[in-house]
Amino acid sequence: MPIAPAAILYESGKPLVIEDIRVSDPGPAEVIVRMKAAGVCHSDLHVMKGDLPMPCPIILGHEGAGVVEAVGAGVTSVQPGDRVWPIWRSSCGRCEYCQLGRPALCELGTAMRFTGLMPDGKTRFHTLGGTPIRHYAGVSTFSSLSCMPESAVVRIESDISNEHAALISCGVITGLGAVTHAAQVRPGATVAVFGCGGVGLNIVQGARMVGAVKIIAVDTVASKEAHAKNLGATHFINSTDTDPVAAIKELTHGLGADFTFEAIGLPEPIEQAFDATRKGGTCVVAGICRSDARARINVNQLLYAEKTLKGTLYGSMRPRIDLPRIVHLHQCGSLALDELLTRTWRLNEINEAYASLERGEVARSLIVWD
Ligand code: ZN
Ligand code: ZN
Repeated sequence: MPIAPAAILYESGKPLVIEDIRVSDPGPAEVIVRMKAAGVCHSDLHVMKGDLPMPCPIILGHEGAGVVEAVGAGVTSVQPGDRVWPIWRSSCGRCEYCQLGRPALCELGTAMRFTGLMPDGKTRFHTLGGTPIRHYAGVSTFSSLSCMPESAVVRIESDISNEHAALISCGVITGLGAVTHAAQVRPGATVAVFGCGGVGLNIVQGARMVGAVKIIAVDTVASKEAHAKNLGATHFINSTDTDPVAAIKELTHGLGADFTFEAIGLPEPIEQAFDATRKGGTCVVAGICRSDARARINVNQLLYAEKTLKGTLYGSMRPRIDLPRIVHLHQCGSLALDELLTRTWRLNEINEAYASLERGEVARSLIVWD
C-alpha cells in the first residue's frame, strides 16, 4: 500500500492538514493517479466552510491532471504512464441520464459525491493510524496519490501541459458549456455575467467565442475588471457601488440582456441576474450556493416575460467527449488559458492558496507537483 502526502479536512471550519496517508492498491476497475496539478476551486471551499456538509475526514480537490501509476483488474481505457483528467462526476454509461447524454446527472457520480465513498461504499484512503478518510467526488485531487474509479478518468491524448489540462477540467468546461450547451448563446447576443471567478471568466470568454456583441461582467472586486476585459468583456460593473440591474438595462437600451449568468453562488446575484434578463431571455445559474440557500424570483416574469431560469452542472457538457475538444479550441488559438492562471502553489501552501482565493486575489490558481 503506497504512502503519499495529502491535504485532509478533519473538520469543517478548520484548516486542511497536510500529512502522509495510505492509499489502497487499485481494486478491479480502479486506477491510482499521481497528481501533477490540482485546481484551487470555490466548490471545495464550500465544503471546508461547512456550507455544503460532507462527512469528515475527507480529502477534497476535484480538478486536475495526473499520470496513471497503477491499474486494477479489468481496466482497459488507460494504462500506467498515461496522463489523465479526473472527472468529478463519474458516469456509469448505463443509467437514464447517461443514455440521454447528460452524464453530469449520472446516479453513480451523484451517489459518490454525496457519500464520499467509492462505488462499493468503501474508502481507499486511511491515515497512518488506520482511520478511514472519505473521497471527494470520486477523485480527491488534493492527494499526491489518489485512487479513482476507471469511470472517473479520461486519457489526455494531446501534449497540453498539466497546468492547462487542470484549468480545463472544471472552470473552463463549466464556463464554456454554460454558454454553448446550457444557454446556447447566439451570435450577436447581449450577455451579462455575475461573478468573475474561474467559471465566470470562462463564461465571458465563451460568450466572446460564440460571437456575443455585448459582454457585461459584474463583480465586487475592482481588480477583476482587467481579467474580464482581457478575456472578452466589453463592459465591467462593480456591484459594490452600482446597481447591476439598472446598469445592465442602461447598457441594453432598457431591455436587459438576452442571456444572464450567475457564477458566484449567492441568492442576491441570482435574483439580480434574473431581473436583468430581457423578455424571452434566459438566466443560467452556474454558481454553487449553500445547501440551504433560497432565491426570490418574481414568478410572473416567467410567464408574462417568458423568461427561462435554468441551472447547469459541468456546463451541461459530456467531459469524456468535450474535454479533448476544448484542448483543440486552445490549440487553434480560440481559447485563452495562460490568461486564467494567476499563480501556482505547493501542496503544503494549500491553506494560503484558499485564503488568497477568498480575498479575490487570483483569477485561477493551481497546486502543482514536480
Ligand atoms: Zn449513469
Ligand atoms: Zn471546480
